[in-house]
This record gives sequence, C-alpha cells and structure tokens, in this order.
Amino acid sequence: AGAPPPGTNPLALDAPAAGSYAGAHTFEELPLSRATRDALKAAGFTQLTAIQRAALPHALAGRDVLGAAKTGSGKTLSFLIPLVELLYRRSWGKLDGLGALVLTPTRELAVQIFDELVKVGRRHELSAGLLIGGKKVAEEAARVATLNVLIATPGRLLQHMDETPGFDASGLQMLVLDEADRILDMGFAATLDAIIANLPRARQTLLFSATQTKSVRDLARLSLAGPEFLSAHAEA
Ligand code: ADP
Ligand code: MG
Repeated sequence: AGAPPPGTNPLALDAPAAGSYAGAHTFEELPLSRATRDALKAAGFTQLTAIQRAALPHALAGRDVLGAAKTGSGKTLSFLIPLVELLYRRSWGKLDGLGALVLTPTRELAVQIFDELVKVGRRHELSAGLLIGGKKVAEEAARVATLNVLIATPGRLLQHMDETPGFDASGLQMLVLDEADRILDMGFAATLDAIIANLPRARQTLLFSATQTKSVRDLARLSLAGPEFLSAHAEA
C-alpha cells in the first residue's frame, strides 16, 4: 500500500516541459487550450498571482504539487486550470466517466470552486457536479456515474464510494486536495485515507493548503508522488 515512489507519476511523461514557460506572468504566456485561454480572458483574468506563477508551470507539466499560500491568493485557479487542461488533452468526454475529483472541506467552498470551474471550463465539453450533502444521497447518486468532474466534501464522497452502485473512480486522472489543512483540522484524516486508498495510483495529485503543518506534510507523503513543494507567502 501507499503512494508510488517519488518521481513515478506516469502522467508527467506526456505533458509539455515546464522549463519553457516557467517565468510566465500572464495566462497568455502559458501553454493553454484556446477554450481555456478565451474563458480566462472573458472572465477578466490576465495576470497570474504568486501561487499561480509558482504552481501552474509544474501542474501543467503533469507533476504532483504541494502548494501553500494564504487565503485569497488564487489557489483555486492553480488547480482548476491544470484540471481542465489535463482532461482536454486526454479528449475526456461523456463516455469516459469520472476524470477528476476535487475534495474541499465545506459545502460553501465546494460551491465557490464549482462557480469558478463553470467560468474556466465553459468552452470545454465537460460535465461537473457537486457531492456535498444537503440533497438526498439518492438524488446525487442518480447523476454521479455520468459526471467527468466531481467537487466534493470528504464525508459525502466516501459515502458514495461505499454505497452508490455505478460509482467508478478507476479512470481517475487527477485528484485535488483543496484547503488540506482545514480538511485535516475538521477531523477528516481517516476519511481521506479511505478515499485515497480507493483511487488509482497512476494519477496526478495537486494538494493546496493555507499552511504547511506536519499533518499536511504527512498527507502529502501519502498522496503525492515526487511532488514539487511550492509556497508563495512573501508576496500578495
Ligand atoms: P484561495 O483559494 O487562495 O483562498 P481563491 O482561489 O478563492 O483564493 O481566489 C480569491 C479571489 O481572487 C477569487 O475571487 C478569484 O476569482 C480571484 N483571482 C484568482 N486568480 C486571479 C487572477 N489571476 N487575477 C485576478 N483575480 C484572481
Ligand atoms: Mg481556496
């Protein structure tokens, strides 16, 4: 059991090299699909924030990333852009099922991430949904099998993994752990372990956190393969 040895994320092999655009300050300079580029422009995003400058080149190159930066620094796009681009490069579509999973501590954060995904992904043909409770499990379960991207809170996701027939994570390409420090503070460590144990190892994993605590580093050891450790604390 456990993560594969460092540096063995197999998805890193067929992605563009980070070196050529490592100094990018604008979204225009990054190797993005036309659909993503246009959507970012339409949403008014032009300059990268510090954590986006640090994380996007590595994440777009297919590497696992642990990114730490304070609240409000733009961590959401640091994972949503690589997520959308990875599925686009793999021509992910309707029949491919679950391709990416985002775990976040609260329903409110999940809804915010969903709204940002709608902005970034609007010109892509991906289906996305929330698994956050507040609806009947059965209502959520009816759609789960058809969605390409799920944004979920850990407890609810594990419930679907255990109980929903047709829930299939075997094709998962990317796992995102958002606000990992808060997920752990809320007592979800064992839930996360159980979820991760059910996911394919050959995936890309992006872990974002406001702080780098010991428990976050332990989680990184369990879930990431040869990660880049990036933080953007000094600048706004
Ligand atoms: P965090 O997850 O680090 O707390 P968010 O990803 O929620 O931060 O971003 C905070 C706010 O900044 C959001 O309103 C988001 O739309 C905005 N934002 C993110 N990246 C950029 C950017 N490159 N340019 C302008 N605004 C941005
Ligand atoms: Mg956030």
